[in-house]
Amino acid sequence: MKALQYTAIGTAPEIREVETPQPGPGQILVKITAAGVCHSDQFVMSLPEAEYLAAGMKLPMTLGHEGVGTVAELGDGVTHLAVGDAVAIYGPWGCGRCHMCAQGKENYCQNAAAEGIRAPGLGRDGTMAEYILIDDARHLVPLGDLDPVQNVSLTDAGLTPYHAIKGSLPKLGAGTFAVVIGTGGLGHVAIQILRALSGATVIALDVTEEKLALAREVGAHHTVLSDATAAATIRELTGGLGANAVFDFVGVNPTMSLAVQSAAAEGDVTIVGIGGGQATLGWGAQAYDVAVRIPYWGSRSELAEILDLARAGQVSVEVEQFSLDQGPEAYHRLHEGTIRGRAVIVP
Ligand code: NAD
Ligand code: ZN
Repeated sequence: MKALQYTAIGTAPEIREVETPQPGPGQILVKITAAGVCHSDQFVMSLPEAEYLAAGMKLPMTLGHEGVGTVAELGDGVTHLAVGDAVAIYGPWGCGRCHMCAQGKENYCQNAAAEGIRAPGLGRDGTMAEYILIDDARHLVPLGDLDPVQNVSLTDAGLTPYHAIKGSLPKLGAGTFAVVIGTGGLGHVAIQILRALSGATVIALDVTEEKLALAREVGAHHTVLSDATAAATIRELTGGLGANAVFDFVGVNPTMSLAVQSAAAEGDVTIVGIGGGQATLGWGAQAYDVAVRIPYWGSRSELAEILDLARAGQVSVEVEQFSLDQGPEAYHRLHEGTIRGRAVIVP
């Protein structure tokens, strides 16, 4: 089968012919119908060799941690799935036995690191291929009649902001403000989740007018260019108080500093972006009682919830479609910053 693989440190991903995997006992072979392109893949491919290997990655590795497909073949003992079922892949695999996994929070599995359990596309072969081997039926959630291409990115670009926002919902009643920094793949879905679930006025920031136009189309009340004057503009828009929750989907020094400065007293600062930044916290450096969170991906039940939100017509991903052969081009475009919404690869 064809797969888009990262083959050597510092090189662009390439299409290769690889063996189609066979499902062993308990495993499932899924035929991929769509795979999403995430900025985290770019982060992984930017790592120097020592850090890449220390993070549990292998070479060559099939990319892609967003995936949906249809069940192609069942390993021995898999009972409650049938060939042809449409499924979404839950990506952050855990051990399935620890306290976190028992709650469906495999994204915070207590044993994954020690046991070498890796997510598809983030250490084991991922979704950017004709087929993928799934280790356990619990990592497949019914997709139902949701369109694969339109909805594949909900498995990460939907699930990750959903998990981040859900934790701050008690602070986002009517009359509150939420800030979204970075309105790309994750950010443009975050705006829609905030509009669907909270009473907050949504202020969105990005670096170009095109990105801000998309932010307005998907529901942002205010859009602000992310520059040195942005903190003052946010103060003004929030009546001098700051925002009750700030979500940073970039995570570099300037955005993290902006996030901390923009939070109101008792506000939440949530850093989702993996931009390598750091923020200064300390007495007087932020409003009183600000809480900082750095979440990762989401739980199995939250994946079912974000798919339900799409079924209810409350979130919809802006998609640019590429073939598997065009995969390298999709990553190039993401790197350039010219993707509108999410790039999706259809094998
Ligand atoms: P993306 O490239 O689609 O979107 C990033 C957006 O940020 C772009 O629109 C870009 O123009 C904008 N941006 C860049 N610099 C900015 C600045 N200084 N101020 C405001 N906006 C700026 O990326 P994505 O796939 O949506 O991922 C976003 C980030 O989240 C990445 O760092 C990714 O690695 C990370 N991520 C984290 C998790 C997690 O679980 N924590 C999961 C998925 C992705
Ligand atoms: Zn991702």
